[in-house]
Amino acid sequence: MKRQPHLIVSPDPLKPGENYQALCGKEIEQAVWVWQVVERGEAVDRLKTCPKCWGRLISGESSEPVKYVYGAISARDAQAETEEVA
Ligand SMILES: [Zn+2]
Repeated sequence: MKRQPHLIVSPDPLKPGENYQALCGKEIEQAVWVWQVVERGEAVDRLKTCPKCWGRLISGESSEPVKYVYGAISARDAQAETEEVA
């Protein structure tokens, strides 16, 4: 089963491998980008996104100016997903 990445938004580019808080409030440890959107040049794929994070993104609840949007999972989840596929 595919995990739905959480959304992390930022006015500045972020580095993977660090800890971030997703829009839904979940802590993402050692974040791995599943995808990224720079300056909203591409549409975010809702079906591949944590529903809570998505809800916050479209309701504009985030106080951060949205410029960079990342779909992120923790390193541990990324590892688990690789093992499932293998
Ligand atoms: Zn989320």
